[in-house]
Amino acid sequence: VRYVAPTSVVEASELLASTEDARVFAGATDILPQAALGRHLPSLLVDLKRIPRLSSVEYNGSWIIGAATPVARIAENDRFRAHFLGLTEAMRLIGSDQIQSRASLGGNLCNASPAADSGPSLVANQARVVIAGLAGERTIPIEELVVGPGRTSLALGEFVVEFIVDTPPPQSGDAYLRFTPRTEMDIAVVGVAARMTVAESGECTKVSVVLGAVAPTTVSVDAASEIMLEKPLTDQVLDEMAQAAREACQPITDKRGTREYRIHLAGVLTRRAVRAATQRAVGA
Ligand SMILES: Cc1cc2nc3c(=O)[nH]c(=O)nc-3n(C[C@H](O)[C@H](O)[C@H](O)COP(=O)(O)OP(=O)(O)OC[C@H]3O[C@@H](n4cnc5c(N)ncnc54)[C@H](O)[C@@H]3O)c2cc1C
Repeated sequence: VRYVAPTSVVEASELLASTEDARVFAGATDILPQAALGRHLPSLLVDLKRIPRLSSVEYNGSWIIGAATPVARIAENDRFRAHFLGLTEAMRLIGSDQIQSRASLGGNLCNASPAADSGPSLVANQARVVIAGLAGERTIPIEELVVGPGRTSLALGEFVVEFIVDTPPPQSGDAYLRFTPRTEMDIAVVGVAARMTVAESGECTKVSVVLGAVAPTTVSVDAASEIMLEKPLTDQVLDEMAQAAREACQPITDKRGTREYRIHLAGVLTRRAVRAATQRAVGA
């Protein structure tokens, strides 16, 4: 295996295009354990961490997060955390402190596990993805990046440069909750992200609820707007949201939980995440 560490996006694109058997990486917290389990390591490994644009957290009215930036560094940014408490919670659930000091959002998304913790919150916050390749750069909505377990929409020779997340409107809040059988170092049986914007009158003006680990990719609960918009948060609204989340699920049964258990959890966590995001939106 040849290891290269380019210092520019163009150089990385050229290296990636030089052979079909090349792969980018950032923290290597997914690819190294997978290689240890016998998965093919490509003949060319392109380390993205030396490219300044990929290892940075910038704010210019929107947040621009380099795809190879360790999640611990993003979560340490006080201003970012204040805007996105839920997304920060999601990053803080990835493995341990040691894993978070290496793990990147680019790796978490492009590994394309249905249980990846950052996915639901990034979708709920309507993040965009900047992708580079030999032909230049393009930007897509985050929900178009992962297309199935272990599969992304990236073309051969392309990689993720950065994620862009717009500052939420005033009176907004987000939350991410997941269930794991163990308290730490386990992956989500179900994860739920909610993002809410609430008017002074207490009525919801914007809502997004996104489920993880209940389908091949993240699932947005489309009925959320109809159920919640222009209404205050009542028990009946929460019941309807929980029901809509259960109906949106298409989970499998595996060693972490049965299909029925995951559907039940999706309802429970949706209730709690929506309530938490709403409380944050109104500063309660
Ligand atoms: C002990 C342990 C616990 C873990 N716990 C969790 C957990 O709780 N929740 C969770 O979600 N994950 C967990 N993980 C998985 C892993 O840590 C995360 O998915 C992490 O975010 C991956 O980031 P990375 O930079 O290390 O990825 P890497 O291993 O560097 O890359 C992962 C994949 O993404 C591709 N890739 C990386 N960067 C890019 C890019 N910019 N553009 C295109 N492709 C790219 C690589 O080619 C590779 O296929 C855990 C892993 C370990 C070892």
